[in-house]
This record gives sequence, structure tokens and C-alpha cells, in this order.
Amino acid sequence: MCRIYHEVINISTSKRFELIDVTYKVEEVVKRSGIRNGICIVFAPHATAAIIANEHEPGLMDDLITFIKEFTQVSRDWKHNIIDDNAHAHIGSALISTHRLFPVINGKLVRGTWQNIFLVEMDGPRPGRTVYVVIMGE
Ligand code: ZN
Repeated sequence: MCRIYHEVINISTSKRFELIDVTYKVEEVVKRSGIRNGICIVFAPHATAAIIANEHEPGLMDDLITFIKEFTQVSRDWKHNIIDDNAHAHIGSALISTHRLFPVINGKLVRGTWQNIFLVEMDGPRPGRTVYVVIMGE
């Protein structure tokens, strides 16, 4: 029978742009869920952050942030900046995506060796970021 289990991971970010590795916290939730086979959704309920999976290598993490800054055109004169100085972060969140899916097989989250799971902060520092981990399966 299909079950659904979830936990919320609380994160405080300390920089405007930052990658926060949540891989091991997500894997602990999968373990606690007791679900052996199914799907794990990692979701950030935020309009100015995103979720990605890639290598935890400091140079690459800096490169990703450099790319995100260029891609979202941080210094452009965006209309939203008139009311809230973070249009670039909304654009990043909308286009990078706020969630990723992972298979759960034999009680383990399936990911590549170089696929760690990160919250992408684009409008920090923020004390109240959250990541929902939802596991569906049996
Ligand atoms: Zn805004």
C-alpha cells in the first residue's frame, strides 16, 4: 500500500547567493520514512530560491553562482525592483525550479556520485528557508 511521509528541513542562509548542501539531511528523512521503494520530492516553498542536484566541489559551486548571477541579470533594471529589490531571484527560482525528484529504491535515495542536493539561495541572507522532503511509496 502506498504511503506518504514528509519532514521539513529548516535552513538559515548567510549570504545573498549561496548553495546549501541538504543531501545528508534528505537521506536521513528517506531512512526515517521507512519507505523502501517510491519517489522522493525535494521542494523549496520559496519564490526566490531553487533546488538543484550537482557536484559538491567548491570551484564548481562558485561557477554555478557566477552563472546564476549572469543568467538572472542581477544588475538589470527589472520592473519588480521598484517594489522589492530581488527580481533576479524570482527569475532564477522560476527558471531553475523549486523542486527535484529522486527515485527511492531498496530504502535508499538514488543519486549519482556527483549529485548532491542543494538549496540555491538567491536573495539571502534569510533565517527562515525551508525544504520539504516528501516520500511516496511503499
Ligand atoms: Zn520580490
